[in-house]
Amino acid sequence: MSITSKDSHIIWHPFTQEQTAPSVIAIKHAKGSYIYDENNNAYLDLISSWWVNIHGHGNREIARSIYRQALALEHVIFAGFTHAPAVELCENLMQLLPYSLNKFFFSDNGSTAVEVALKMSYQYWYNQGYIKNLFLSFDGGYHGDTLGAMSVGAKSGFHDNFSKLFLKILTIPYPATWDNDLEIEAKENLAKSTLERHLHEYGDKIAALIIEPLIQGASGMRICRTEFIETIIKMVRKQGILVIFDEIMTGFGRTGSYFALDQIGTSPDLLCLSKGITGGFLPLAITITTTNIFNAFLSDDWKKTFAHGHSYTANPLACAAAITSLNLLKKETTQKAIQEIHKSHKIGINKLQIENKRIERPRIIGTISAFEIKNNTHLNDIKFNLILKKQFLEAGLLLRPLGNTIYLLPPYSITAYELETSYDKINKILFQL
Ligand SMILES: *Cc1c(COP(=O)(O)O)cnc(C)c1O
Repeated sequence: MSITSKDSHIIWHPFTQEQTAPSVIAIKHAKGSYIYDENNNAYLDLISSWWVNIHGHGNREIARSIYRQALALEHVIFAGFTHAPAVELCENLMQLLPYSLNKFFFSDNGSTAVEVALKMSYQYWYNQGYIKNLFLSFDGGYHGDTLGAMSVGAKSGFHDNFSKLFLKILTIPYPATWDNDLEIEAKENLAKSTLERHLHEYGDKIAALIIEPLIQGASGMRICRTEFIETIIKMVRKQGILVIFDEIMTGFGRTGSYFALDQIGTSPDLLCLSKGITGGFLPLAITITTTNIFNAFLSDDWKKTFAHGHSYTANPLACAAAITSLNLLKKETTQKAIQEIHKSHKIGINKLQIENKRIERPRIIGTISAFEIKNNTHLNDIKFNLILKKQFLEAGLLLRPLGNTIYLLPPYSITAYELETSYDKINKILFQL
């Protein structure tokens, strides 16, 4: 029996309707920007394997650092103990982050990093004698699949079945924008006036605002303007509300700078990092916060402790991978590659737009490009999406359109030529559909 048929009997895949989904593909090995299946078919990984891979697959330096660390110390309980890779990683990250973000709390995936941020914000107030059990988030915001993370992502469209289980949230319309968007002012004004109303009515009950800065990922690579985020932050801070940046997707060069916050004129009270942190090798996450928040948990009373932790907190192998990945990210060649990807996106998107009238709302930020393709086929949107995925795979491209949104989010190892030919292939497929 092949791996795929064995798999089909026993494995339940994420985000997959197992009754109708096409057969999964068994990947045997991966190198650079390509993954290879059992029959040695190559697929260009244009989505960085669900947004985690930044330096390409099979990176030797990261692999070696994991191996060396495994021989020395694979894992140790992180309560009451520590190790060099954890400390070194935080010191290195601190050099790239705003000075105020200097307390690091480890966990092991994006959703847990968000849970930690939500719980920390709630308890920050609780420890000072306030009950603030409301969170502010944006329509279309996606923050993970655990219950707290789903709650703040209630309007992402992914978690509707669970709405009866959610924490209490207030949502703000999200002013998604694109090239030559004429309605951006109106959309931003609506968001601001909605927020104004929430603040007026519930301001003193809100613990924190959570936002994916500059771009919402899962709800369709939706970009907003930096000035808008700056205004929103000013408004909530007037009422003392904490600000959480979910940079799980945007971190580590994705938006062109090390972090999206580098492009925003203010820094958050809590920052969630994961996905690209280990270069896509191992699961790891960190919630980073300020001395002010940290201090609110200091007490002789155990009840003020942040009683939260995971078995694999600060796994040394993952930390070792993250240290190496961060060093690679800082290299001039990587920074150049990030700029080159941005240029290639501009050329590719431009060409697509000229040659295909069904391309709408083109947008680019850093290493991410996205656009909508109008579905004027006889297929419904769900079937249309499946056909798109299938045809891209057949052309050797790993792409995973979100609805009718096609996006490219490649590892930084990709070459200008590979991107250019990818756009040509995409163009051909879309033209024939
Ligand atoms: C992927 C993602 C998460 C959740 O991370 P997981 O590791 O999948 O739990 C949270 N927030 C954002 C912005 C993400 O893109």
